[in-house]
Amino acid sequence: MKEIILIKLGEIVLKGLNRKNFEDALLRSLRRRLAKLGSFKVRAAQSTITVEPMDDDIDMDDAADCVSHVFGIAAFSRACVAEKDLEGIKQAAAEYLADTMESIKTFKVEAKRSDKKFPYKSPEISAEVGSYLIEKFPHLTVDVHEPDVIVTVEVRDYAAYVRAGLIRGAGGIPVGTGGKACVLISGGIDSPVAAYMMAKRGLELIAVHFASPPYTSERAEEKVVELLERVAKYSGRLKMYTVPFTEIQEQIREKCKEDYFTIIMRRLMMEIAQRIAADKGAQALITGESLGQVASQTIGAIACTDAVCRMPVFRPLLGMDKEEIIEISRKIDTFEVSIQPYEDCCTVFTPKHPRTRPVLEKVIEEQNKLDQEPMIERAIANVRVRDIT
Ligand code: ATP
Ligand code: MG
Repeated sequence: MKEIILIKLGEIVLKGLNRKNFEDALLRSLRRRLAKLGSFKVRAAQSTITVEPMDDDIDMDDAADCVSHVFGIAAFSRACVAEKDLEGIKQAAAEYLADTMESIKTFKVEAKRSDKKFPYKSPEISAEVGSYLIEKFPHLTVDVHEPDVIVTVEVRDYAAYVRAGLIRGAGGIPVGTGGKACVLISGGIDSPVAAYMMAKRGLELIAVHFASPPYTSERAEEKVVELLERVAKYSGRLKMYTVPFTEIQEQIREKCKEDYFTIIMRRLMMEIAQRIAADKGAQALITGESLGQVASQTIGAIACTDAVCRMPVFRPLLGMDKEEIIEISRKIDTFEVSIQPYEDCCTVFTPKHPRTRPVLEKVIEEQNKLDQEPMIERAIANVRVRDIT
């Protein structure tokens, strides 16, 4: 029996004139991601997208998993394709839904007939299929108010589909429809969650990571790759730019007052990230900062970092508690990777008493002790690129 996936469009249906763009972007992401699993026909009709496998050996569990990670989808369901006559629909329902029917007590059938040439009206289809299911599974009763499962029969122009229940989609809007942004990614819990959240709002991502070998290890960088691979399940493929940051950090340690280390380092991170971002066509930066979480995330410290930024900085976690952030990181499967213990460059040379209320003029004065521009240029010239899929 042939199984397909039916997708209900999410927030995109609200987008008026832009709707076509959103729908096209969604079709593109679906096609690109599903292509790894085999050949599919993906098409939109009547506010539903159908995903139809074209090879016999395609694993539909994998396909459903893939679909569940694509933004722009409110809900989807797996359905079987039935012969387009009443007998065919009944038999398909009984066979395809057998496991489900065995495990429940009450159900109802909802039929939708968009092919008006089909000789039975929706209520007739519902009644016929309902009686047939009770005949096959005599323990079942119909409950039209609170059924355990709603069996849906859709009679469309080209085929009839039978399904039970809806699966929640990833929500959000399709990646790429909101432009491109650059996430500053560390190996911590927060930045992968921030990346996921902004991709969910339709942004295509690139990632910048600062590494300070030998203070940070090869393994620490691999951890970041692993985190981004998990983010990419939602955001689609992206490029990761690794910036060598050792020289800059060593010079900060050598030349600046200790209590300014962190804030100056963060300003230089933002400066370098926005140059890479601009060069790659990204229009905003994304960080995993959360207000008050650490000394560099106070209003005063953020004001000092933002003072170097010439593009908007998105901080989707700003108002969230650690617990709320962890909940999302578990959901997107990054938590277990994030808590592996590898040094981040932020944790080398951390001052004992970082300034929580830095004064911008003082910060600039300290930072100007560095021979900044050549170092920034060297760091950017030695950036390494990786494809994350
Ligand atoms: P995270 O859990 O994301 O590491 P954090 O709470 O540990 O965040 P910080 O270490 O102060 O906070 O970093 C704040 C933000 O700065 C991070 O969320 C990330 O966006 C960025 N950042 C920190 N370290 C790096 C790094 N090595 N490379 C790129 N960006 C970084
Ligand atoms: Mg960190």
